[in-house]
Amino acid sequence: MTPLTITMHALDNVAIVANDGGLPAGTVLSSGQTLKDKVPQGHKVALQDIPKDAPVLRYGIPIGFANESISAGAWVHERLLQMPSARGLTDLPMATVQAVATSDAELAKMRSFTFEGYCNADGSVGTRNILAITQTVQCVAGVTDFAVQRIKAELLPLYPNVDDVVSLAHTYGCGVAIDAPGAEIPIRTLRNISTNPNFGGEVMVVSLGCEKLQPARLFPIGSIPISVHTAPVEVSNQGLGQAQPERSLNLGFDHVCLQDAQHVGFMSMIESVMATAKIHLERLNKRRRETVPASALVVGVQCGGSDAFSGVTANPAVGFCTDLLVKAGASVMFSETTEVRDGIAQLTSRASSPEVAQQLIDEMAWYDAYLKRGSVDRSANTTPGNKAGGLSNIVEKAMGSIVKSGTSHISNVLSPGEKLKHKGLTYAATPASDFICGTLQVAAGMNLHVFTTGRGTPYGLAAVPVIKVATRTDLAKRWHDLMDINAGTIADGSKTIADVGWEMFHLMLDVASGRKKTWAEQWKLHNALVLFNPAPVT
Ligand code: CA
Repeated sequence: MTPLTITMHALDNVAIVANDGGLPAGTVLSSGQTLKDKVPQGHKVALQDIPKDAPVLRYGIPIGFANESISAGAWVHERLLQMPSARGLTDLPMATVQAVATSDAELAKMRSFTFEGYCNADGSVGTRNILAITQTVQCVAGVTDFAVQRIKAELLPLYPNVDDVVSLAHTYGCGVAIDAPGAEIPIRTLRNISTNPNFGGEVMVVSLGCEKLQPARLFPIGSIPISVHTAPVEVSNQGLGQAQPERSLNLGFDHVCLQDAQHVGFMSMIESVMATAKIHLERLNKRRRETVPASALVVGVQCGGSDAFSGVTANPAVGFCTDLLVKAGASVMFSETTEVRDGIAQLTSRASSPEVAQQLIDEMAWYDAYLKRGSVDRSANTTPGNKAGGLSNIVEKAMGSIVKSGTSHISNVLSPGEKLKHKGLTYAATPASDFICGTLQVAAGMNLHVFTTGRGTPYGLAAVPVIKVATRTDLAKRWHDLMDINAGTIADGSKTIADVGWEMFHLMLDVASGRKKTWAEQWKLHNALVLFNPAPVT
């Protein structure tokens, strides 16, 4: 076995071991050092003697300071590192980096890529054609799920152009301090999820009746386009008993209220939900895919179950692809505040203007304060799996996470739950929690998701296709029917970052067009929507 190590930056005094299974003590590296310890795959080895208190450098920055002197060839595990404190949020470089120049020919080439999507009245484009059933409160989740199972079995086969029916169940809506600061986050998140491009502008709501989050509060007048909901549709009542679809056009959307006096018995509620769903299925079924420019993509990038390879293989490939998408005129969001916090100076310097840099600082400051309320800081992020995978602390994890954002200017910043209205590269502030980040990116209007993993996670979303990228060949082989792309080929030298980045870009166009399904879609794997609620519950 040829010993394989990866160094990220010329200044680095550590490298990571790339070989499957790690390397035994006594191995002589190509750079000349002899391993003093067995070093697991993905873990760091000292390339030179590092005195006590000296910085341990990876990605060209200190990821920690040596707790004791470390000799060349030794395994540099997390217990040997003292984590640096977070960079303060003052005196940061503001919009100092020049935009990367792109030639006219390259721009023209990137702008010529297309995919087949569903055009919506609001100008957004869907990659799937899905009926979503919005809920105001968790109380109605069981009833809605019962109705959704029957809609899938009895109605969906009649509407072959509709991909799926999705219940937007969540834990919010009542038992919460709905006027507290922070409560606007879960409320706008839910509102914006309901109008995700993959739901075709159709909004139907199931409410209980007595909850705090009343339908009119969830959707104030003007918050969703009314035009698409006023067109009369002929709907047969076949198979639905005497149920009549409920219309609440004064609210601007169709609405079934379970406590309404007209409902006598459980089946009356179910039939009412089904009859209302049928109106929307009729309209969705008439839609056809059209050729649209790749600029209609709204891609959310995320990582989860990270290891030391995340920042070496999969995330750099995502970063390369992010740059391609930005050149193609598309929207790309990166997120996960605790995983970019240690790179704040890098982000503010890449902001397109001082105003955008300030928005980045404001989001970090808000999150610092949020974590402080819970008596923790960003270091609470790393998991036992991260550490077993070679990531010593959040500084090292963040440097590997941030590369998903590529090299473009950051031109927009979103607060949690806000809707994206701009093209280009956006920092969408979210927690790093996989399901909360995914939920907030769905709310932002994502129509395609890219998710990198080193330890492995079967993560998926019901509303948006998720392309999963393995950081290591070993994982891609074991999880051959869960991982869509193997970026581990970058570590063994058989492919370049650009090769995998382009592979990802073309797969995105295929998945967005419905020509290919991701593994998570094929198995129908999806995680729950998890709303970010920083406000108190009652
Ligand atoms: Ca994550």
